[in-house]
Amino acid sequence: MEGDEFRKTAHETVDWICDYLEGIEGYPVVPGTAPGEIRSQLPDAPPEKGESMEQILEDFRQIIVPGMTHWQHPGFMAYFPANHSQPSLLAEMLTAALGAQCMSWQTSPAATELEEQAMIWLRELFHLPDSFTGVIESGASFATLSSLLTARESRSHDAGRAWGLQSGGKRFTTYCSEEAHSSIDRAVRMSGLGESCLRKIPTDAQCRLIPSELEKAICQDLEEGNIPLWISVTLGSTGTTATDPVSEIAKISTTYGLWMHVDAAYVGPCLMLPEYAWMLEGLDAADSLVINPHKWMPVNFDCSAYFVRDVAALIRTWEILPEYLKSCEHTPVNNYRDWGPALGRRFRALKLWFVLRYFGREGLSALLRKQISFAQNLAESIRREQDFELMLTPQFNLLCFRYRPVSLSADVDLDTLNQTLLDHLNRSGHVYLSHTRVKDSFAIRLVTGQTRLEERHVQSVWNLIRESARKLHRPSRDQRNGSSATEVRLPVL
Ligand SMILES: *Cc1c(COP(=O)(O)O)cnc(C)c1O
Repeated sequence: MEGDEFRKTAHETVDWICDYLEGIEGYPVVPGTAPGEIRSQLPDAPPEKGESMEQILEDFRQIIVPGMTHWQHPGFMAYFPANHSQPSLLAEMLTAALGAQCMSWQTSPAATELEEQAMIWLRELFHLPDSFTGVIESGASFATLSSLLTARESRSHDAGRAWGLQSGGKRFTTYCSEEAHSSIDRAVRMSGLGESCLRKIPTDAQCRLIPSELEKAICQDLEEGNIPLWISVTLGSTGTTATDPVSEIAKISTTYGLWMHVDAAYVGPCLMLPEYAWMLEGLDAADSLVINPHKWMPVNFDCSAYFVRDVAALIRTWEILPEYLKSCEHTPVNNYRDWGPALGRRFRALKLWFVLRYFGREGLSALLRKQISFAQNLAESIRREQDFELMLTPQFNLLCFRYRPVSLSADVDLDTLNQTLLDHLNRSGHVYLSHTRVKDSFAIRLVTGQTRLEERHVQSVWNLIRESARKLHRPSRDQRNGSSATEVRLPVL
């Protein structure tokens, strides 16, 4: 595809992107696609002869787009968002245009040095201690794995690197709260330590790790001859954005010599706001920390900021230098291929740099505050309704709530009723919500974190939730006649 043809198609593609983003509210947030429906529209075999770009783009529009969940739709309130923004999107286009593989300084000096500086900017923005050095990872999962392996290497004097699980001797044990993200379990699996070495510490009514329970577990492990190695402290759990008491855990970690990792993947960006300065308490004692700009900052997936105190230990964990990778700089440079599990690296710093510059601290803070206020206002609305129940006091922009009809017949299971409500809302096309369990009860989970979200969207989603819920649970004729059977009827939206 040469010269003018590429230019023309590229312009048309940009036009499509602009139209898509401007008209995104016209798409259902979640497609009504049945499993296999998209595959059935694709040929069984790859094409023998090349096809025209026109045909390929047409199929993109006709087959692929209708089967997509639209994460940039303001009605996307499920999981955590994966926000982008126009500056980030432009950077991503340029990254693809440069097509660089940025594994070492020499393979793209600007990519390495921009990453160094962008991570210093992030550290400043988040008010993190100067003792932290940052590197961009593809996700919090890899950052956490990296943290655990570095802890293992530091504690075993690099024996794990050389001997793996054959190094014998005592067993390392690891800790997190029972609310911690599944990436912790996965890191423990991948590290070869095994899930049986992971202690899930009970949480209090606010879903926060209970420090005394942690200390008990550590002491028990010491008694059994294990070596307490590593803890992942959660700031902003995925289920409920619960925040573990970092300072108290830091004291225990210091006493028993644990590596303290902090998982602030989602709520981390709030560290830039003075009103969340309380989250900084104890962080100076952390050995590593991860924050995902690809969630609650408008930097499109993937971009995860991993900060570590002992960079030398990190590099010892990962460094490998075969002949074909040797280069001969005379001044020391960062070769990020030795800072994590992957050799090949995308130029992810570019989009971070574009976003930090375009929005500035003010713009980014305003975005966070706006979305936090949406959640706080909606929480107030939920509290005002007798038949809705807020299940936790929101600290950020995530709400956990459920519908609880005032005159609830005995045989109605609240979990089932709310699951039905959730399915119904998600089928409406206007909103996408997910769920969690708060202390064993089913909760609808709503995140006001999408960058395009405005007050009017929150209002209309709340109206939809109330109307749907109230249509869903109404006494049946039998019940009016004295029986307790309940009819669940789905309204047509
Ligand atoms: C999303 C999330 C993760 C995993 O992040 P990835 O970047 O998808 O690997 C880890 N921890 C928490 C608290 C999260 O919310």
